[in-house]
Amino acid sequence: MAFEGLAERLQETLTKIRGKGKVSEQDVKDMMREVRLALLEADVNFKVVKKFIADVKEKALGQEVMKSLTPGQQVIKVVNEELTSLMGGEQSKIAVAPKAPTVVMMVGLQGAGKTTTTAKLANHLRKKHNRNPLLVAADIYRPAAIKQLETLGKQLNMPVFSLGDQVSPIEIAKQAIAKAKEDHHDYVLIDTAGRLHIDETLMAELQGVKDIAKPDEILLVVDAMTGQDAVNVAESFNEQLDVTGVVLTKLDGDTRGGAALSVKAVTNTPIKFAGMGEKIDQLEPFHPDRMASRILG
Ligand code: GDP
Repeated sequence: MAFEGLAERLQETLTKIRGKGKVSEQDVKDMMREVRLALLEADVNFKVVKKFIADVKEKALGQEVMKSLTPGQQVIKVVNEELTSLMGGEQSKIAVAPKAPTVVMMVGLQGAGKTTTTAKLANHLRKKHNRNPLLVAADIYRPAAIKQLETLGKQLNMPVFSLGDQVSPIEIAKQAIAKAKEDHHDYVLIDTAGRLHIDETLMAELQGVKDIAKPDEILLVVDAMTGQDAVNVAESFNEQLDVTGVVLTKLDGDTRGGAALSVKAVTNTPIKFAGMGEKIDQLEPFHPDRMASRILG
């Protein structure tokens, strides 16, 4: 499970302070030194760590006494609040267009889990929001991506719009949206192409799809297992495309958690969903507060 190492370290550190009836400035400093190390070891971006530590210190040392909590518990409460806010604070929901269909463009590097997540999201929208999405196979470069989406569509008993791999993604997007309107779909989920690395051709093509599809949401799918790389990928995609949300995949793996803790702070783009496994129903809305509590135990 993700964050295990980080959670263990933080819980160990916080236990030391939890029961304390009196917490000195030195206690907070000592604790924060350990928290800092734990975060860095979990591959959290160092600038993010620096700010986090400064914020917690300021709050923990300056706060008013709350009668119901011991000073130790108060410090932990501050850490929890700051961790939640670091990951985005309030849960950030998927967009809904004022006029259907809501167009969602799925972007990301090859292998991040984009095609799988597109199908998972369709399943989530139908199950939890009673929606009727159209899946669009516009990843014409990765061999078998279209087939993969079609197979997932069959499994879900949901239509998949495809024009094969000889038509440009821009044309596919255009025709798919027209088809969605015709058939009264309320969501259009476009699975776009990824590559192994970010390059100009990829970005130019995605920009072309964006121009024609005018998406209400651009969801960037990043692999949490890649740590700091995930954050760098998010930064680049965001600069070029103005991403509106991030889906962190593979949080079920033994990722150190740095990506989940840094993406929002570095890119100012909310994490909207987390992939928790390969199965179609293993996608969860991302709740910063729940994640913080999970990490802090
Ligand atoms: P794409 O190239 O970005 O479209 O990637 P795919 O959707 O084909 O996914 C790549 C691999 O990652 C596949 O084997 C997926 O089953 C796997 N995958 C996707 N999301 C998750 C996840 O949340 N957890 C795990 N464990 N595997 C995932």
